[in-house]
Amino acid sequence: MYHSLKPLAFILIFGAIVSSCKNNRSSVNKDPLDLTGMDTSVRPQDDFFDYANGDWLKKTTIPASLPAWGGMLSLADKSVADMRIVLDSVAKDKNIIPGSYAQEAGDLYAAGMDSSLVEKLGISPVQADLDRINTIKNTGDLMKEVALEYSMGLSPLFDFGVSGDAKNSAVNICYFNQGGLGLPNRDYYFQNDSAAKKIRAGYTQYITKLFELAGEDSVAAIKVAASVLATETALAKNSRTPVALRDPLANYHKMAVASLVKSNPNVGWIDLLSEMQIHADTVIVGQPEFYKSLNNLVKSVPLNDWKNYLEFHFMDHFAPYLNNAFVQARFDYAKLLTGQQAIEPRWKRMCRMIDDNLSDALGQLYVQRFFPPESKKRMLDLVNNLQETFAERIKGLDWMSDSTKTKALEKLNAMVKKIGYPDKWKDYSSVHISKDSLVADLRNCGHFAYMYAIGKIGKPVDKSEWYMTPPTVDAYYDPTQNDINFPAGILQPPFFYKNGDDAINYGAIGIVIGHEMTHGFDDEGRHYDSNGNLKDWWTPQDAKRFTQRADLIVKQYEGYTVLDSLHINGKLTEGENIADIGGSIIAYAAFQRTPEAHKDTLIDGFTPDQRFFLSLAAGVWRVKYRPAILRTMLLNNPHSPAKYRVIGPFSDNSGFYKAFNVKPGDKMYRPDSIRVSLW
Ligand SMILES: [Zn+2]
Repeated sequence: MYHSLKPLAFILIFGAIVSSCKNNRSSVNKDPLDLTGMDTSVRPQDDFFDYANGDWLKKTTIPASLPAWGGMLSLADKSVADMRIVLDSVAKDKNIIPGSYAQEAGDLYAAGMDSSLVEKLGISPVQADLDRINTIKNTGDLMKEVALEYSMGLSPLFDFGVSGDAKNSAVNICYFNQGGLGLPNRDYYFQNDSAAKKIRAGYTQYITKLFELAGEDSVAAIKVAASVLATETALAKNSRTPVALRDPLANYHKMAVASLVKSNPNVGWIDLLSEMQIHADTVIVGQPEFYKSLNNLVKSVPLNDWKNYLEFHFMDHFAPYLNNAFVQARFDYAKLLTGQQAIEPRWKRMCRMIDDNLSDALGQLYVQRFFPPESKKRMLDLVNNLQETFAERIKGLDWMSDSTKTKALEKLNAMVKKIGYPDKWKDYSSVHISKDSLVADLRNCGHFAYMYAIGKIGKPVDKSEWYMTPPTVDAYYDPTQNDINFPAGILQPPFFYKNGDDAINYGAIGIVIGHEMTHGFDDEGRHYDSNGNLKDWWTPQDAKRFTQRADLIVKQYEGYTVLDSLHINGKLTEGENIADIGGSIIAYAAFQRTPEAHKDTLIDGFTPDQRFFLSLAAGVWRVKYRPAILRTMLLNNPHSPAKYRVIGPFSDNSGFYKAFNVKPGDKMYRPDSIRVSLW
């Protein structure tokens, strides 16, 4: 989510600045780790984040069009700039092969960048859809429209998807989850503090504005907006909180379609599934009470209100690709959640649009240009070393029985490692892309994605498929596939230093690798076995000991107050915090297996161990947020904010205590009784 300089310049500039060495031992020059933002007036033992970044935080201004800046976010911003380089070049390439993926990506980019055409077209690209919604006469028509919109890539009313069955992970099945809301989660409809009220008012204004742009007068538009909010509030009433959605067992209900038909007769499931082209006898319903309530609402909410709801969501879905009045209206609402002061430049928004819609076309172009093959090799060495270290640690755990350890090791050893980009690419040749019809192009992409998804129903899971695109600056663990995935985008500084030393690599990407592996053993992941099936492989004693330790982590993070009186939600962030703590401990142990960790070479005056910890704090998590995005994160995001992804895990890492001589009385010190050791 950020960037500034090209990697080479980055290494050279900081290499030149940071070359002072406090003793006369030999040192490695050209340290790519940027330590110019430290505030050494802060004791590292009291607040390692401010120690590593205090000066940078004071001097840095967040760019007006962004919600946050620094570290990981700057790299994500650079990734978008890299997408632009490849898209610009294919869009202008006169010798491009007609019908190739490169031409499709280039044409979609050209369509996206043609702002004068978009301006001239106004609302017309969606007018026929709004007219069609207006002709809905009964519940049958309503559900038919819902199905049609799914086939265009929208997701009204509920949330539908296809993936491996969590209890039979080799086979794909349909998931029906709660959904249909416009605000970030169900709590936003009911909270009555001033910040929540302001967001709700802004959302209502946004709905009003879209109906005005669609031709309603302002009095009518206000009424319509109120009805949309009321409909969504009704859907929200029987929706679960973000914390409740984290429980994999409580959100899994395999149901025969026949019983769904019987228990929810008003929805007209048979017709709906047939219109959605879904052929299945069994589906998984995440939250049955949501569908029960939906079944009542399709009758009790007036048909006119449903039409308003569908019209709004149709316009909202395409608003970023309509004329400036739509883009501005959407931004005026979105900025309440992010704090952004200005709309991002068009090219950035359009690059992301292509990353979302023609992912594998852009992905191929991106890795050809920006992902050196030797990065993959070094990364695989790191992953293998982390995996071996994790296995050693599992064998040595004092709280787990031998029988559970055997199962845990089986799971760890079965983890599939995916690095950089997929082995096979999706073929988009059937997707029609034209340079002069952006919205139609996006519908075609949405249709392709939908048909691709429903084509998987009942078929074996393809373990080679990725759920993040190559330029993404992020990584993930998939519990039903038991795999760890590191897109090319994250394999750059400040995560991965192709030519950097072990300390800064283990301290950044090493911690990320450990983090993803630990997800297989966090409070959610531990419920899945080595084949990715929801299956209990724990003895009751071990499960109890796990929960006691995990509860300490919940308490630890609940204790961090971030913004005004808002503190971290320990239950919402439990899995990520477990992964952060595990990641830092396992990566530190893995680093101890390298020769560098045992040398007393100082670089910039720091020992190898100290640089391991600085790499995460001053590299990856040197992030500054606007207050609005911080609030949104605390209420929605399962990750803790950057500062707490440093001081949280390091307060539980005995390696950190050793590296910086942390003692009782220091602010980051946690006594043995509450210092968590899980993995
Ligand atoms: Zn995570």
